[in-house]
Amino acid sequence: MNIRQLFLGDEPNQEVCVRGWVRTFRANRFIALNDGSCLANMQCVVDFEQIPEDVLAEINTGAAVEITGNLVESQGKGQKFEIRARNVIILGTSNPDEYPIQPKKHSLEFLREKAHLRIRTNTFAAVMRVRATLSFAVHQYFTQNGFYQVHTPIITGSDAEGAGEMFRVTTKNPEQADDKPDFFGKETNLTVSGQLEAETYAMGLGKVYTFGPTFRAENSNTSRHLAEFWMIEPEVAFSDLNDNMDLAEDFIKSVLAYVLEHCKEDLSFLNQRFAQEEAKKPQIERSSMGLLERLQFVTQNEFKRVSYTEAVDILRNSKPNKKKKFKYSVDGWGIDLQSEHERYLVEKHFTCPVIIFDYPAEIKAFYMRMNDDGKTVRAMDVLFPGVGEIVGGSQREERLDKLVERMKAMDIHEKELWWYTDLRRFGTAEHAGFGLGFERLVLYATGMSNIRDVIPYPRTPLSAEF
Ligand code: ATP
Ligand code: MN
Repeated sequence: MNIRQLFLGDEPNQEVCVRGWVRTFRANRFIALNDGSCLANMQCVVDFEQIPEDVLAEINTGAAVEITGNLVESQGKGQKFEIRARNVIILGTSNPDEYPIQPKKHSLEFLREKAHLRIRTNTFAAVMRVRATLSFAVHQYFTQNGFYQVHTPIITGSDAEGAGEMFRVTTKNPEQADDKPDFFGKETNLTVSGQLEAETYAMGLGKVYTFGPTFRAENSNTSRHLAEFWMIEPEVAFSDLNDNMDLAEDFIKSVLAYVLEHCKEDLSFLNQRFAQEEAKKPQIERSSMGLLERLQFVTQNEFKRVSYTEAVDILRNSKPNKKKKFKYSVDGWGIDLQSEHERYLVEKHFTCPVIIFDYPAEIKAFYMRMNDDGKTVRAMDVLFPGVGEIVGGSQREERLDKLVERMKAMDIHEKELWWYTDLRRFGTAEHAGFGLGFERLVLYATGMSNIRDVIPYPRTPLSAEF
């Protein structure tokens, strides 16, 4: 049995055997043992007279041990049970002078360099358990709502956005000039989105979603961008932008409610951590709510929906604070919103998640459905406090002539996407979908502030260790 099961159970006075890693060993008597199954350590009390000295000498922070003994009700405060250790077996030693994870608070930056061991800290173990639970909640939500998961290709011959920023996949040796064709006989890249392929499947299975890795060689070294991240992309046939916004809102609320219910211990730990971090910030930058409070708030309140045009009007008539203006001024209709604008709308103006829809066609991708005004497309972004854009989606252009017109205007080669335009030739129908960056959702759920700390091995510019 693992430690979590022992704590959940109600049966003291039985002989148990647990295996885990020593967090601390105090007074030659108290081992705080953690096996990763839950946040809480199991306190194991050893009778040092009964344990051989050479064994005692190896009970160090980081060592793997097996402990057998009686599970008893704990006298100590804050814990239900402890183990009276009868026998301790050292499974794997750990030199305390070399083990980098000391029983003290390490900086997140330091821990990023020890990404193979940081999972043995309370913070990372809590974050990764929440991440795993959220992932389960995603599959559960879609399955219960009649969606089928599709596994879209990771190596693709197409670029969904028609923009650069891709990682080339090739078997050609750059040092050698050879004129043999490349492996696939054409240029291929790691996928930036499974959307176009998901669309084809929605037009056969009705409701589908993808949940897979996505790669973008964007050189933006921010706390919100990774070069490799996981994206969730539902796509629904016979649905429009309003349905799409409803789906995004219901989906996010449901999965957050799921972790609130199933990750109580970890979230309450992260809640405390969040409060400590917020307290270090200057007053005006602090979040008005605690982590748990804001998760509850999001699950219980409606997201605010405004059109791009309304959003620009709000921004033009506002000053972010008394002295400063925006770094990027909001000159007029048609600008791409910067993250300072998005944050202002979400954190200062509406103080809740916001969905902005009907963006100017010029700043959005070719596949988004043109509105009757000929200027805006049926796009939507969901913006979250602290995280910024968490979802980007749209109703897709289902009219062949309009789609081809847009492809021409945006220099997207129709020949390469012949299969995509085919969908508009055979049984075309209204359809819509969105992409949600899984790590941004985990960031929000855990209250962490850097996306590098919510994925096991972050891939960012100049960094691919491990
Ligand atoms: P941003 O403006 O934040 O760079 P984007 O508009 O390029 O994002 P989309 O192409 O709309 O992103 O992708 C859909 C979602 O994927 C985004 O809403 C976001 O949650 C997530 N996402 C995009 N780029 C990244 C990245 N580099 N790292 C992590 N998540 C990302
Ligand atoms: Mn986007």
